[in-house]
Amino acid sequence: MAESAVEQVARELRAILRQESRDGFRDRTVVGGLEAYARRRLEPMLAPPGGGGPEEPGTAWLAEAREVLRAYGAASPEGRRELAAALLRRLGAPVAGAPGKAPAGPEGVGPAAAVPDLAEPVTRLRGVGGRQAAALARLQIRTVGDLLAHLPLRYEDWRRPVPIARLQAGSEQLVAGTVVAVRRWQARRGLELVDAVLRDASGSLVLRWFNQPYRERQLAAGRPLAAYGRVEEFQGRWLMQSPEVEEPGEAEGRVGRLVPVYPAGRGLSQGFLRRACRRALEGREGVAGLVPEASRRRLGLLPTGEAWRAVHAPRSPEEAELGRRSLAFEELWLLELALGLLRRRARQGLPGVRHAPDGERLRRFRDSLPYRLTDGQESAWREIEADMEGPLSMNRLLQGDVGSGKTVLAAMTLLKSVDSGYQAALMAPTEILAEQHWLGLAPRFRALGVETGLLRGGMAPGERQELLDRLADGSLPVVVGTHALLQPDVRFARLGSVVIDEQHRFGVEQRAALQRKAAHMGVRPDVLVMTATPIPRTLALTLYGDLDLSLLRGLPQGRGRIETRLFPPEGREAAYRRLGEHLRAGHRAYVVCPRVGGEEGEEGGDEAEEAVSGEALPGAVAVARELARRHPDWRVGLLHGRLPVREKAAVMEAFARGEVRVLVATTVVEVGVDVPEATAILVEAAESFGLAQLHQLRGRVGRGPFASECLLVASREDGPGRERLERLARTEDGFALAEADLELRGPGDFLGKRQHGLPQLHVADPVGDRELLELARIESERLLERDPELERPESRRLREELASRFPQLDLFFVG
Ligand code: ADP
Ligand code: MG
Repeated sequence: MAESAVEQVARELRAILRQESRDGFRDRTVVGGLEAYARRRLEPMLAPPGGGGPEEPGTAWLAEAREVLRAYGAASPEGRRELAAALLRRLGAPVAGAPGKAPAGPEGVGPAAAVPDLAEPVTRLRGVGGRQAAALARLQIRTVGDLLAHLPLRYEDWRRPVPIARLQAGSEQLVAGTVVAVRRWQARRGLELVDAVLRDASGSLVLRWFNQPYRERQLAAGRPLAAYGRVEEFQGRWLMQSPEVEEPGEAEGRVGRLVPVYPAGRGLSQGFLRRACRRALEGREGVAGLVPEASRRRLGLLPTGEAWRAVHAPRSPEEAELGRRSLAFEELWLLELALGLLRRRARQGLPGVRHAPDGERLRRFRDSLPYRLTDGQESAWREIEADMEGPLSMNRLLQGDVGSGKTVLAAMTLLKSVDSGYQAALMAPTEILAEQHWLGLAPRFRALGVETGLLRGGMAPGERQELLDRLADGSLPVVVGTHALLQPDVRFARLGSVVIDEQHRFGVEQRAALQRKAAHMGVRPDVLVMTATPIPRTLALTLYGDLDLSLLRGLPQGRGRIETRLFPPEGREAAYRRLGEHLRAGHRAYVVCPRVGGEEGEEGGDEAEEAVSGEALPGAVAVARELARRHPDWRVGLLHGRLPVREKAAVMEAFARGEVRVLVATTVVEVGVDVPEATAILVEAAESFGLAQLHQLRGRVGRGPFASECLLVASREDGPGRERLERLARTEDGFALAEADLELRGPGDFLGKRQHGLPQLHVADPVGDRELLELARIESERLLERDPELERPESRRLREELASRFPQLDLFFVG
């Protein structure tokens, strides 16, 4: 039977309210807020033209919902939570039976529905009352489905008691026997102990509690008892401190089971969570889930209901892990499906620019290169070329390690547009990097008769306007700039391609904004995103899941080796002596400091850093001053983000020409700077940098044929940064390092700013479940190949789930 309009609204509203609850009740789920939504969506259904007449059955809730939503916008987050909870309760019953028909009281036991609804509020479960529901809500658990998705952190093995004679010190174990003695005694003031001796056929041990006098009554001698806890040897006996105990045979007891331990919170005991989850499972083990059976079979995963059973009531650790994997897969698969839809949608609507096959300038450019492209570059170029010549717009991520030669491919992309009669833009994350690119490209393009403009932040108004005019009338073929290129007054006559360098600093929306700059032509320009940040491939799939991926492996031949050396704090002098040797050999060097320093440098962000580390980190200003004083012959230059643009450009140019031979800088040199004569980079307080960042810095040297060195000076003897530095010294492969960095620091740093706008994962771990993520991508593609828009009837539930899970991605309702 088709869903009625009212049922549809009820479902929609449930999804919206659940999203609100996930999002902290910020009233941001629907455009214009829920009040406007009520006006738009509910009121037309409420006011039948002509009025009067008896209400249609099953629509009584509409008027209530309108009232609730009217108040929603103005309410505090806490008030909104209550309003949403009330409305969700009202909507809680399966829609088919008309919402509101079976209201659930706070302790309510609803009439058994044929298919238990996962959107039911937790209060529907026996034993879950209002107070517990509030405590659960603090963990974002509101529905039965939320509860089932609340996975155990770990399990206690209560399956089989260990004979006391076979206990092992240090691990948690279960013992079972008879209490033979109980004693309460005062160990010292304020410390009262209860000791119980438990005996089985093989021996005995002492159970001990601290300041819990009631245990004495609980543990009468002669009673059978099971105890679980960490065992240690104490004065020649086995001792278990503060064990969990239970009488064997207790209803819903733990003995004989693998007992889940849940993330809990105030007002929630483990016992309560275990019972509630078991209740939630009742009647829901048959839920098939959304993953197609064929995919599930191929990967040997469980249907959702069985997976819930396996994680909440496992028979073995293996089964628990299989359950978790199955649920993680479902989560990742849904995410990849959403990204696949985005990827497809990015290509719809507006066709792409059809670039011409090989052109004159591109050919001449390639002929002019002093080297041959590596195999990696050639194969990436074949992918880019095919995208550009094809009818759809390119959305490609070019990921390559530092120095792998992405810039050449960027240049070729731009030239291909010019050859085809289009304009092209290169966008970089910082002014310095934009200038660098411009300095590198402009002369080479000029030699081909192609003019390249630079859109800078500090341009004189007249100069800027002239540049904009020439972009708008099409007389300037190539422009390089920062996100200043996104400003609305930057218009192109015929934009054919955009290359974005270092995507991790740009968001998905910014990419879209650039693409819209060709909307007046009825096309989407091709977009090539380049990143030197070695994001592990699997994580890239999630971060840039809406992009196709080209991987640039390996470095061009003929590069000098980079030796990485660690120096302890007292080795700083020795590190600078090595730096001096590079200079004496006629090369150049970088010195990188974790902060700017100097007078004005003591304010703002730096102070926070100091507060954390408890000591001042070396500042670039001070280090530059010190080096200039001690080594007048080194010709020291200073570069940091606070310098005016012109000064930055001047010092960079002086370094590139060799007038400055030591460049003291902050991490502004992290990306893109390309001076092949630089053979040494010394990093001050190296442990204060991330591994990926250090790898980027190291990539500034070794760009020519000379042997290079990366000198890492630690500012303290030990600490957590030490392991990072050792890894860096051992590993040259940026991808391997990025994986290591993830393991050492967690994904937070990569996913940190959340600017990608992608949702968080609850079950899956993007690092630990890398392989699953890959599989999810493959399996989601299989489905999208069959049903690209998820329009088939059997995909309906899937569409609903995706729309409610990822409302911000606007997957199905464009506009
Ligand atoms: P990335 O941007 O990937 O860090 P670049 O494009 O800046 O790397 O290349 C680093 C250096 O290698 C540049 O000096 C560049 O001229 C040089 N290079 C690029 N491709 C090759 C190649 N195929 N063979 C030799 N050198 C190359
Ligand atoms: Mg580069």
